[in-house]
Amino acid sequence: MMMNDALEIDCLVIGAGPAGSITAREVARGGWKVLMVEKRPEIGVPVRCGEGISKELLDLIGLERAPSFVSAEMDGAKIISPGGTVLTLGPEIAGPEVGFVIEREMFDQELAKMAARAGAEIWMRAEAISYEDVGDHVVVKIKILSETFTVRARVVVAADGFESLVARWAGIETKIGPRDIDTCIQYEMVGIETDDRFTEFFVGRKYVPGGYIWCFPKGHGIANLGLGMNASMVKEPGEPRSYLDDFIRKNPRFSKGKITEINGGGVSVSLPLEETVADHLVIVGDAARMIDPLTGGGVYNACYAALQAGKTICEALEKDDTSKASLGPYERRWRDRLEMEMVRNYLAKEKLLEVSDETLEKVLSAIAEYDMKEISTEELLKALASKYPEVLKELAGLM
Ligand SMILES: Cc1cc2nc3c(=O)[nH]c(=O)nc-3n(C[C@H](O)[C@H](O)[C@H](O)COP(=O)(O)OP(=O)(O)OC[C@H]3O[C@@H](n4cnc5c(N)ncnc54)[C@H](O)[C@@H]3O)c2cc1C
Repeated sequence: MMMNDALEIDCLVIGAGPAGSITAREVARGGWKVLMVEKRPEIGVPVRCGEGISKELLDLIGLERAPSFVSAEMDGAKIISPGGTVLTLGPEIAGPEVGFVIEREMFDQELAKMAARAGAEIWMRAEAISYEDVGDHVVVKIKILSETFTVRARVVVAADGFESLVARWAGIETKIGPRDIDTCIQYEMVGIETDDRFTEFFVGRKYVPGGYIWCFPKGHGIANLGLGMNASMVKEPGEPRSYLDDFIRKNPRFSKGKITEINGGGVSVSLPLEETVADHLVIVGDAARMIDPLTGGGVYNACYAALQAGKTICEALEKDDTSKASLGPYERRWRDRLEMEMVRNYLAKEKLLEVSDETLEKVLSAIAEYDMKEISTEELLKALASKYPEVLKELAGLM
């Protein structure tokens, strides 16, 4: 595939994060001509991620665990209440961010290499700057340094992340309010005391209103220490960072550590986009707001949806029909697996924004008394009802 000013391809993938690379790999494996464009000079850099993923994810995408991108293996997660109660969760219920702590840039680069090996072309420092549906295909302008190239694609994949513009260019409603965004700030720290087999989550207003602080250990006294705060609760710029600094200062486990990296960014804690396909367009990953609204984790969902996108695009190209109707099965395929959980976690997030530290303390301490592997939700609710009936009333919607 040569760069020229009217390149014709089957599939253009915009963005080389996990969503883009997995989709590109799947479509290329189907034997189609795929181009993936990435505006950054290096895939995955700078990292904007706590770097926690589930073990299941590697099986899902067919990637073998390798020391180049896995820093540490976790046995589970610990939730720490405002009063210091610790709730220990095994990996099976700790969620899709618990399993391995990775080097995200190396992980993203592995995925891009898989796409390249499958036959996808990759252009770096290549930014999609415009999008025009011209009937039976889409025309996208790609800027590389001072040059602009025209690409004609039968189908385009918007895998351009949280700040996605492509879906909007295609006329899809992508507005999002501050209550559906978490503002995140994260330090990589060295010389701190970590629990090397568990990721830790500090929850409650005492630490940060409308969010939580995480500590994802990488071994050797190194960890990602980060904070997510609901944007509707941020009163002035810099507030999330001052909560994180305050937490570190007051905690002797972390206060002597040194910061070796600062990163951050926004994550959607919303419901997914109502429409994730249009004529000649599929939207995948953060661009489709597929992040889990409770945990803020999005790599698993992005990869799961990308597999469904790849499969659907191959079928549509085979039929020589990339209309919205032909790409429609993608909606059902990813929603069948992910949507209910996203809705449930969205409602939980909404409820938790209102819950006081006192209530949270009671709930976590009641749950901490049980072995989470053995107790059912029903038994748990009964236990809560007998111990703290007022709490159950307050949390009615959430339960
Ligand atoms: C602070 C923070 C911590 C997080 N922690 C976790 C965690 O621990 N676990 C977890 O599972 N998830 C976590 N997430 C979420 C996770 O990072 C995302 O869900 C994941 O990156 C989604 O992948 P994606 O491919 O959809 O988007 P991205 O990884 O954002 O990739 C999008 C790519 O598109 C490129 N791009 C954008 N516009 C254009 C354009 N016009 N032309 C060309 N390229 C373009 C971008 O440069 C980028 O490389 C965290 C997010 C943040 C911000």
